Parts: sequence; C-alpha cells; structure tokens
Amino acid sequence: MQANNIPARPFVVPSLACVAIAKDPPVRVFACLLALALSACDRLPGFGGGAKTTFDGDSALVFAQAQLAFGARVPGTTGHRQAGDWIVERMRERADTVEVQEWTHVTRGGRQLPMRNILARFRPELTERVLYITHWDTRPTADSDRNLGARGRPILGANDGASGVGLFVALASALRRTPPAVGVDLLFVDGEDYGAFETPVEDTTRNRDVLIGSQYFVRTMADSYRPMFGVVWDMIGDAFLQIYQEGHSVRGAPEVVTRVWGVARELGYDEYFLSQTTGGITDDHVPFLRKGLRVIDVIDIDYCLDGGTACGGDPSRNLHHTHEDTIDKLSAESLQVVGDVALTLVTKLAGP
Ligand SMILES: [Zn+2]
Repeated sequence: MQANNIPARPFVVPSLACVAIAKDPPVRVFACLLALALSACDRLPGFGGGAKTTFDGDSALVFAQAQLAFGARVPGTTGHRQAGDWIVERMRERADTVEVQEWTHVTRGGRQLPMRNILARFRPELTERVLYITHWDTRPTADSDRNLGARGRPILGANDGASGVGLFVALASALRRTPPAVGVDLLFVDGEDYGAFETPVEDTTRNRDVLIGSQYFVRTMADSYRPMFGVVWDMIGDAFLQIYQEGHSVRGAPEVVTRVWGVARELGYDEYFLSQTTGGITDDHVPFLRKGLRVIDVIDIDYCLDGGTACGGDPSRNLHHTHEDTIDKLSAESLQVVGDVALTLVTKLAGP
C-alpha cells in the first residue's frame, strides 16, 4: 500500500454543477434525469479525439456522479435501495440478461440488512467467460476522517463505490454496441464495506460484515460456474491514478495480473498500471481466490490529496474512508484508462 511514484498529471476537475446543487431535492431528481438521459443516448465513441477503444470515460464519470444524488448507499437505507434499483434499470437497458440475488444478512450484532447482488450478463450462451466484479455499497462510517466528530457519519463514496459502478455502466454501453469476444459477467456486489475489516482475512466469522455480497455469491454459485478469470475493479476513478499489483492477486493468480498489466502496457498505460507490488488488500477478490477461481484486484489504494502517496496514516492527506471522497477527486481520464483496459481484455481475447 505504500506508493513511491507520483504521476505528474494535472488535477482534472470534472463538471460539478449537478453535485454542487444536488442537496436540493428537486435538483437531485434533475441529476438523476440527466444520468437517465445519458444512459439512453451515450455519447458517440471517439468524441474528443484520441480514444483507444469505444469505452467513454466521460459517461463513466456521469454515471458515478448520478449515484451520489442518492446520497450514501449504506445497506438498509433509502439511498441504497434507490441506487440498487438504478443499477438494475441501467443493466436491463444494456445487458442480455440480468439476475438479481436478494437475501437478508444478519450482522454480528444481530441487525438484519437487505442485500442485493446484481449480475448482468453478455453473451450468456458462451462457456468461455470473464467475470468482472465491483461493489456498489458505501461505508456507513468515515473511520479515517480528520474530523473525529464526523467519523460516525456515512461517506459519499465517489471513488470507493461509485467509480466502479460508473465504470461498469459505461462498459455495458460499449459491450451492447459491440458484443465481446467471450461471455462477460458484470457482478455488482453488495456489502463490501459495511463492517470492520479484521485479520486474519481468512477468518470469515470475524469478517462476517465485510465482503458480504462476494462471500454470498461464492457460497451460492453453481460449481459449474468457472470463468476463465476475473477482476475486481475498485477505487479506480482517482484523478491521480496509480495502480500497483496487489499482493493476494500476485500470489493467488499471477497469470491474470500478467494478462491485465500486459494489456495496459500495450495500450500505453504503464504510468498508471505500475509494476511494483503492494501488500495484500482485503477486497472482494479474496472469497473468489479462496474458492479456487482466478480473480485479481485492480485497486488504486493510494487515494491521497493532490496525488500524494503513502498517506494512509496521515489524516490531513488521506481521502480513503473520509468525507473527502467526493466527485471532484475523480477524473474522466482515469476512468477512460481503466475502461480501455477492461474493454480490451474482453474484446481482443484469444485463448487462455
Ligand atoms: Zn472502502
């Protein structure tokens, strides 16, 4: 998790118009309608020039922003339910099939939480498949916020939650226009970030209230479901994108890391997909690796103010699990980089 390189990139501030005024309820509706309109008529690929794929990073950012209009997406809240409905609708517009897994999770403290995993499938008839995973919930607490009095309130989760979903909706738009070379499953998992992360990661009793959706999916999926490989996409919207090779991924599915980083290199994205390795990060890939599936984590854990690095222990610079995780920290350019890699992986795939 300790980063060394600081990419020398300009700080890109996306359009803030909707979010800045979205506290006003009627305008929140407007922000949703704007996103709905965009969802119905995504921009033509290649606008702005220099696009490497048909993925549209600008749309991905708008889809990330649209979720913030629902507020925090903490399981059991209205915002959570509305955001889940919104994802289902966006996927029904784009994917070949959409399956919704619903269940009630009982926390360690005995609380009952409504949960939903959403699985959007492209070319479901194919046995050769790639599984992409992102979490759509947001954390109920701001554990690392510099303001101790504000730590009990839920975070907005622009990067930690909304960025991965924004990526997936824009990816689904591209896959609808051009069907992939293999079957693609986009899995939106719930409850990744609800409770406390405890060590060891293998202790599923202590870690009962995190990775809830991925643990449930792995527990209930058919034994016959064996995707060729999988990737978790998490916190990939940071305007200062720096993705290291995550420890559990390198140990558990090194050939998938090689494949993903190889595609990034071919696209000219070495400065964002870095060759250094971080320590293991507890994320949604862990239950899949434990089950024997080849799933890695693509995550930019170094989420620091103004692109700094190694800020995890510094509340004045860290954005992760704080109220500073807002839309102005994201950029369409970063989402474009990650989207290009994600789309290329499934459109130019030839053999294992
Ligand atoms: Zn988180």
